[in-house]
Amino acid sequence: MTDAILVLNAGSSSLKFALYSDIIVGHDEAVMQTPLLRGKIANIGNAAIFSAYDAKGNVVPPQDHMICEPSATHDTLIPALLEWLQNHGGGATIKAAGHRVVHGGRAHAGPARITNTLMAELEDLVPLAPLHQPHNLAAIRHVAAFTPDLPQIACFDTSFHRTQDRLAQIFALPRALTDQGILRYGFHGLSYEYIAGRLPSYLGQHGGGRVIVAHLGNGASMCALKNRQSVATSMGFTALDGLMMGRRCGALDPGVVLHLLEQKRMSPDEITQLLYRESGLLGVSGISNDMASLEASTAPEAREAIELFCYRAACELAALCAAIGGLDAIVFTAGIGEKSALVRSMIIDRLAWMGVALDPTANEGNQTRINSDASKIVVLVIPTDEESVIARATRQLLHVGNATPAH
Ligand code: ADP
Repeated sequence: MTDAILVLNAGSSSLKFALYSDIIVGHDEAVMQTPLLRGKIANIGNAAIFSAYDAKGNVVPPQDHMICEPSATHDTLIPALLEWLQNHGGGATIKAAGHRVVHGGRAHAGPARITNTLMAELEDLVPLAPLHQPHNLAAIRHVAAFTPDLPQIACFDTSFHRTQDRLAQIFALPRALTDQGILRYGFHGLSYEYIAGRLPSYLGQHGGGRVIVAHLGNGASMCALKNRQSVATSMGFTALDGLMMGRRCGALDPGVVLHLLEQKRMSPDEITQLLYRESGLLGVSGISNDMASLEASTAPEAREAIELFCYRAACELAALCAAIGGLDAIVFTAGIGEKSALVRSMIIDRLAWMGVALDPTANEGNQTRINSDASKIVVLVIPTDEESVIARATRQLLHVGNATPAH
C-alpha cells in the first residue's frame, strides 16, 4: 500500500486533482514530483467532463456514476471523486490533502494546516477573491465531511509575494487603508514558486538573476524575480489587476468604475460581472475568451484582442524591469505562455529595443529555450506545475511541521 497526498485545485467550473506518493522529504525529487495519478473535472455545472491519467500518462477510465451526471456540482463531485480514488488510486491510502487557496491575506507567507480558526480567517478573505476563494474553501469542507480526521493543508497563491518590499505592496492611498490590509497581494504564487524552483536547472548560477515570469493562462500575471524571490508582480489587491486576461479587464483607470456606478447607474454586482466575466479577450473580441479560438479566427476583432493582450503584456513586462533593475531572462508559462508561439513573438517583438530576440524555429516548436543566439536576454518556455508545489508543501508540513519554499 502506497501512502499518498491528495492535491485539489478547485476553480469555479473545474476541479484539478492529483495523487502524489507520500515519501519522506529528502527522497528523489523526480519521484516526489511525479504524480501517481492526475486529472481534471471540467465544465462543472454544465455536464461535467472527467479525465484522469496515471503516472505513465495512460488514461484511467472513469466510473460512469460520477462523471456522466449532467447535474453534478462541486458538492456532489468531491465526495464522488474521493470514493473514486479509493477504487482507482492504485491502492494508495490518502494520508493528507493539500489545497490551492487563492488568498491567504497578509498573515500567511507559507502553507498552513487547516483548523477551524484558519477556516474562519480564510472565510473573511472571500470578498477579496469572490470568484475563487469560495470554491477553494468548499473543497476543504467537502473533504473534511468525507474524511473528518484527514489532515488538510492550505497553500496560498498570495504567499510567494510576501517577500516583496513594502513599496511594492502598498497603494498610494491614505495610510489608514493600507493598515487595514488594502494592499497589493499578488497571485499565481504557486506557479511562480514552481518556476523559481526550476530556474537553476535551466540557467545555472544565473537562475538567481533578474527574471520576469509571464504566467499567461485564462488568468494572467507577471512576476519579477531576483534571487528567485518575488520583487514585484502585476496583480494587486485582487486578481483583476495587471494584464488583460481571458475574461478580466486587467489594469483599469478606477475612474471608469466610478463612471459606471454614477453615470451608468450599474450595480456593484453588474460591475463585478462586467470586469471579471465579460471583459478581457472576450470583451474586446466579442467572440471568445479562448486564445486558441481567437488565433483561429479571421475576424479583425479577434486580431485586435490578441494585439491588445500582447501590447499590455509588453508594457507590463517593461515596467517590471524597473523593479529589478534590468532583465536577464524571461520565462513564459501556463496555457498561452506554453503553447502560443504567436503571442510570445508578438510580445517579444515589442521588446526588441531591450536587445531580446527569438529564434523563430525554436519558438514555433514550443522549445524550452527560444531566444536567438544574438539575444541579450534568455527566453524560456517552462510548463508550470502548481500541483507538485502543493504536494511538496503538504508532505513537508505533515512530516517536518513547517514548509520551506521549493527552492
Ligand atoms: P487556466 O488559467 O484556466 O489554468 P490555462 O493555463 O490552461 O488556463 O490556459 C488556457 C489558455 O491557453 C486559453 O486561452 C487557451 O486557448 C490557451 N491555449 C492553450 N493551447 C493553446 C494553443 N495551442 N495556442 C494558443 N493558445 C492556447
